Formats: sequence, structure tokens, C-alpha cells
Amino acid sequence: AGKAIGFVGLGNMGGPMAANLVAAGHRVTGFDLLPEAVEAAAKTGVRPAASAAEAVADADLVFTMLPTGRHVLGLYTDGGLLAAARPGTLFVDSSTIDVADARAAHDAARAAGHRALDAPVSGGVFGAEAATLTFMAGGEAAEFAQAEPVLAAMGRKIVHCGPAGSGQAAKICNNMILGISMIAISEAFVLGESLGLSQQALYDVASTSSGQCWALTVNCPVPGPVPASPANRDYRPGFAAPLMAKDLGLAANAIRAGGVDAELGLRAAERFAAFAAGRGAAEDFSGIIREIQDRSGRG
Ligand code: NAD
Repeated sequence: AGKAIGFVGLGNMGGPMAANLVAAGHRVTGFDLLPEAVEAAAKTGVRPAASAAEAVADADLVFTMLPTGRHVLGLYTDGGLLAAARPGTLFVDSSTIDVADARAAHDAARAAGHRALDAPVSGGVFGAEAATLTFMAGGEAAEFAQAEPVLAAMGRKIVHCGPAGSGQAAKICNNMILGISMIAISEAFVLGESLGLSQQALYDVASTSSGQCWALTVNCPVPGPVPASPANRDYRPGFAAPLMAKDLGLAANAIRAGGVDAELGLRAAERFAAFAAGRGAAEDFSGIIREIQDRSGRG
């Protein structure tokens, strides 16, 4: 049966996610600070609320899809979201935020008499629209069991990663692998070029050898070998560099907090932060290869 769902944050991701909940038969009430986001959601069948508090007042489940942990914690407490919901409401945060902030959000929800799940996603705007997101969830088994059928309306793969914060932990670890591997693939193409090796030859070997990875075979940073990769359309995203920089920043925070010897993760965070603040501001993250080419005198 359809659930009553409050959805706060109807942006690039939240808008289409809320629309898929409506399409699956749920009663969704939505709010965003931007009136145009609320209007766009209303066209997909989301009932517009005049405030975040109004959106969650009668909800069984509340989703938040906001930029950062500061937004989530601010809305939960100062914004009155926890206070506005019925006791025992399940709060699902799908934003990508610090693991520490996610745990604080769980604590705040519990202290207010509610239940919580962190459930960040991968799959991007395309996955949000097509309802093919991957959800990585952190929280108790009972909360996961309640959320899972609802998440299934927005995603294809739903993984319970462990207790509070585990979903965010999985997300930042995965994206750290991705950030480092994109730099590794890019450096290898530029090194190969300096050795007179053709890009296609390196691709043919590495894609069927131990260098194989998503950054090579799906999002290949040079044009040609993988026709659908952003390199073939002048690095239009795709996965925008500022989002990669954000996720690596969260990984770097966790690396420092945990005293982990993750030199490459920290270095990748620095490289993508600089790239995203400059020429990469509107590019796919694979555009970092052009910076590596330039710095190698091969631009
Ligand atoms: P977005 O900026 O398009 O949407 C965020 C929305 O939150 C905005 O519409 C904003 O107005 C709204 N908002 C901010 N504060 C609010 C408040 N107090 N009350 C109500 N609304 C408020 O961002 P997005 O691309 O939808 O991303 C959302 C989250 O998902 C981020 O944490 C991001 O890292 C993560 N994410 C994004 C992608 C992607 O490809 N865009 C992929 C995976 C994860």
C-alpha cells in the first residue's frame, strides 16, 4: 500500500526521486527553498507544502536530499523538522554527507523519538530519473526493512551496509576508489603517449588485463575507445568534477579523523578540489586528464 511520504530537497536528484515515489503509488508531500523546484515537483504529482514542517507533519517516512550535512542537521534541529513529525517517523537521509554528520543526524532523530536511516545513492541524475539508483543504507535492520520497499521505487540495488553512518562510509570509500582510479587511468594514458603507445592499444590491453576498472571501460578519459564516455563530448558531465571534489573532501575528513594512512585518497582530494575550482568547474571529472596532459607538456 502507498505510504505518506514527506520529501525535503527537490533539486536535481530529489525532484526525480520524489516523482518516482508518486509513480509507485505513494502520497508524497514535498518542500524546497526554491519555489521553482516545488512547482516542477507539483507537475509530477507531488503535493506542494508551504514549509518543510508542513511536508513532514503527517508522514510515515521523511526523505531529505540536501547539499551537505550542515543543511541536514540544521533542518532536523533548528529548522524544526524532527519536532514537526509524528513520534516514530522514519527519517531517511539520502544526501551525501560526512559520516560524523550522519551519525549526529541519527542521534538527533532518536533523541526526538524518531527512527533514522542514512541512505546515500550513486547513479547520478540519470539514475534518479530512471529509478536505477544504488542505495547504500546505514541503520538498524528494522528501519532498513521498513525503508527497503520504498527505496525500491527509486533504485535498482539496495544494500544494507551496517549500523548508523555505514551507508555514507560505503559511499565515500567507493568514490575514493573512483577518484584515485580516474587519476591512475589518466596518468597511464599520458605516460603511454609519451612512450609512443597509441591510446587504443593501451585501452585494448588494459581493459582486458589487471588495469581494468570503471574509470577505463565506462568513463574512459580519452575520446575514441568508449564512444559513450564524456571525453567524446568535450567532457560534458556525466559526473561533474565539483561533485567528485565534494565526495573526496568527505573522504579526506574521514581519513584525517581516523588517522588512516591513505596518501592517495588525500592527494586525489587535493587534485580534484583544484580542478573543480578552475577549468573543471563545469566538466566531467574525467576532464582531469587534460590537466595532466598540460602539466606534462602534451596539452
Ligand atoms: P541540488 O543542489 O540540485 O538540490 C538540493 C536542493 O536542496 C536544492 O533544490 C535546494 O534548494 C534544497 N535545499 C537546501 N536547503 C534546504 C532547506 N533547508 N529546505 C528545503 N530545501 C533545501 O543537489 P543534488 O544534485 O540534488 O544533490 C543532493 C545530494 O545528493 C547532495 O548531497 C549530493 O552530493 C548527492 N548526490 C548527487 C548526485 C548528482 O549526480 N547530482 C549523485 C549522487 C549523490
